[in-house]
Amino acid sequence: MSIEKEIIKKIIEEEATNIKDLNRIKREVAKKHKASFPTNTDLLQVYHKNKKRDERVVSLLRTRPVRSLSGVVNISVLTKPFPCPGRCLYCPFQEGVPKSYLQNEPAVMRAVRNSYNPQEQVKTRISSLQKTGHPTDKIELRVIGGTWSFYPKKYQESFIKKCFDACNRRNSKNLAEAQKRNEKAKHRIICLSVETRPDFITKEEIERMRSMGVTMVELGIQSLFDDVLDFNQRGHKVEDTKKATKLLKDTGFKVCHQVMLNLPQSSVKKDVETFRQLFEDSSFRPDFLKIYPCAVLKEAPLYSLWQKGEYRAFTNKELVGIIKKIKREFIPRYVRIQRLFRDIPSQSIIAGSKISNLRENIIKEAEKENWRCKCIRCREVRGEYNPKEKLKIFREDYFASEGKEVFLSIENDSRNKLFAILRLRKVEDSVFSVLKSSGVIREIHTYGQQLLIKNKGAASPQHKGLGKKLIKRAEKIVKDEFKKDRITVISGIGARDYWRKSGYRLKDTYMIKNLKLNKKISQKKEKYYRG
Ligand code: SF4
Ligand SMILES: [Zn+2]
Repeated sequence: MSIEKEIIKKIIEEEATNIKDLNRIKREVAKKHKASFPTNTDLLQVYHKNKKRDERVVSLLRTRPVRSLSGVVNISVLTKPFPCPGRCLYCPFQEGVPKSYLQNEPAVMRAVRNSYNPQEQVKTRISSLQKTGHPTDKIELRVIGGTWSFYPKKYQESFIKKCFDACNRRNSKNLAEAQKRNEKAKHRIICLSVETRPDFITKEEIERMRSMGVTMVELGIQSLFDDVLDFNQRGHKVEDTKKATKLLKDTGFKVCHQVMLNLPQSSVKKDVETFRQLFEDSSFRPDFLKIYPCAVLKEAPLYSLWQKGEYRAFTNKELVGIIKKIKREFIPRYVRIQRLFRDIPSQSIIAGSKISNLRENIIKEAEKENWRCKCIRCREVRGEYNPKEKLKIFREDYFASEGKEVFLSIENDSRNKLFAILRLRKVEDSVFSVLKSSGVIREIHTYGQQLLIKNKGAASPQHKGLGKKLIKRAEKIVKDEFKKDRITVISGIGARDYWRKSGYRLKDTYMIKNLKLNKKISQKKEKYYRG
């Protein structure tokens, strides 16, 4: 028997569940065979040849478990180099890579290895996630690169089609066919996000995004001070951010604001003020946040400003101080802080912070000071699911971009473990008739270890009916409180099948349900969930 097979046999026989046991077994078997340790990926490769799949064994051998602990796996795909109309001072330009990226960034190197072919990028990523033990049934696909809205429309369409083709493991004749196939595919795209500028968000742009299956938009808003935006030659105003955020929310999109700290012309005080306003002023209130500290790079115009002494990078102490203040004082429970740092290799940073584990450092400091960030990411249950724990539905109502938002969440009593969320918006008016006068579900997400679509394993809150409970509650709110008889969902293409099973049907790229028509069924199901 091979060393790998023998180790796997022992893991199963001894019911090993932790790294300590795994390493002991590896040591014993390797000694017997007078060989070196096989890696977890080697072991998984052998284990995957077995017909039976024991989730316990896979999770023990999984490398970087965090990759699938938020209920999905993330795949980023980079667009090909293309000119951007922007002239932002801090933005680097290098021949052969998209504007704002550097040749030595990991995402760029992966894309270059695949000649920027989106199909190959997605295929390679899925295969490496599988090899390291991650389920790849539910995918959040992020399109990264320059300004998405500025790419030629034909390129956009073919790019997205190829991403779907990669997930479907076959080529389709057009985007519509690729999307249809993805509804039942092995790898389903349940969230599709693109990055763009606030001044590019128009009704036509949103229509195009919906036809491609986009469900989330990352807006580079950078600052809430017009003088800072002007000085950095952003080419848009704070007013554009307000309009874009509203238009996107009224069409059901999830909205992420990318904010840059330490921009030229800004200051510690202005940066803190940007975040205060971001959540105090109802014109903003994003669902997701990415906070990037500005970095001086040789390839950006900011470099010459820095050389002349006209720009000063914050010290690490200043930077950490700002982020701690933001997390401690302004962040509400409905927002998820996605990132605190961009993956720029430290050797390329001439001035600016090089602490790549900023988030971990801040968590440690917060623990010492006895406070916690309330954002979604910091409270997700991850691998700590206990089926016996008592869970409750919490509700938070707030006003954002001239509309009512209801944020539902399933949490434990002390609210430090978050299991599932749902974002519901009351839409009176929308540029799309299908959304007018309805309740719109903008997001539903169950956290914890991602499971294969048909797996109901006990080690994760997924597939335990938590999402369905939230949907029932949302339908009731729409009917009884919003007094609307229609509920609409901006569903990722790969999640359409899930919604169909709950009585929703496809209309104009959204999944909709007429609540009056389904009254009887709803009551029956409601009774079932209460029981
Ligand atoms: S809009 Fe974005 S990609 Fe274009 S120059 Fe500005 S930061 Fe760079
Ligand atoms: Zn947080």
